Amino acid sequence: MESIVRKIIYIIAIVILTQNFIALFFGVNFIKGQGFKDANFSLWEIIFASVLLLTAQLIKPKTPQFTKCPQCKETFSYKDTINGKCPNCKDVDTLDIKEYYNKFSEEKK
Ligand SMILES: [Zn+2]
Repeated sequence: MESIVRKIIYIIAIVILTQNFIALFFGVNFIKGQGFKDANFSLWEIIFASVLLLTAQLIKPKTPQFTKCPQCKETFSYKDTINGKCPNCKDVDTLDIKEYYNKFSEEKK
């Protein structure tokens, strides 16, 4: 869900930036159905787009550093997993180590 929001924010920011860079270098803007129109580069729109990009970065979910497989109980560094899946059990999603111990608290020693 939040990844869709992030994609939309990125697209809006990229469209604003692209339009403003075209306006900056060529003094025109492409408007759908109207073709090229005279346009001025807007610093505020660049700032607005930058804030959007920054927001998109901030809402990006953090990738866990260490994960644990609920099936083989093996602990991995996130980079050793296959996009978060256990390299031993193939199709089993590993859990963030904190999440894992919240879920299986009886295993904590
Ligand atoms: Zn496993």
